[in-house]
Amino acid sequence: MARDTGPQCKQCRREGQKLFLKGERCLTDKCGVERRSYPPGEHGRGRLRASEYRQQLREKQKARRYYQVLEKQFRSYYDKASRQDGVTGENLLRLLERRFDNVLVRLGFAASRRQARQLIRHGHWQVNGRRVDIPSYQLKPDDIVSIRSGSNAETTVRVATELISTVPPWLQADHDSLTAKVLRLPERDEIDAPISEQLIVELYSK
Ligand code: SF4
Repeated sequence: MARDTGPQCKQCRREGQKLFLKGERCLTDKCGVERRSYPPGEHGRGRLRASEYRQQLREKQKARRYYQVLEKQFRSYYDKASRQDGVTGENLLRLLERRFDNVLVRLGFAASRRQARQLIRHGHWQVNGRRVDIPSYQLKPDDIVSIRSGSNAETTVRVATELISTVPPWLQADHDSLTAKVLRLPERDEIDAPISEQLIVELYSK
């Protein structure tokens, strides 16, 4: 499946904030945003026109980059969210948050979404005892996540667990056995993402 393979620090600099796309490096002073806090490119330090549309567009791009989702897939998440009961923006974030690659990051089993995606694709993880190698797989309440027995990624995963101090309350993780459980769907205030979802809804509702 296609994915965004561009330089990740440039994506953060474009959005003007840390999106934590590179794992451990994001926590050091080597972070691209810390070193160059202006947008990339020849005109990066120039003045930008602040229009409503630009704000909405940037918010959507930021969300795509944060969750590492391509445009077409992001749009289909939005369409699905708008068909669900409840607040569309919150539904959208909930769908993105329940992606398998994102959940591995939230559990501390991967240092970044890119790493999580690679671990999943290479078949290191199981859901309810069955191998799942689809990063976009939607987890649901009561699903049990576990590392495949004999996986040679165990050391990598254990290193990643050291980067995280807390797991969101809708998830439960056991960092010794490298297993976890989805307790319930996340509430909006439990989704720690630097995104104003209402701006995305306004963009797509035009
Ligand atoms: Fe973004 Fe991480 Fe690069 Fe910093 S180090 S700019 S947070 S990807």
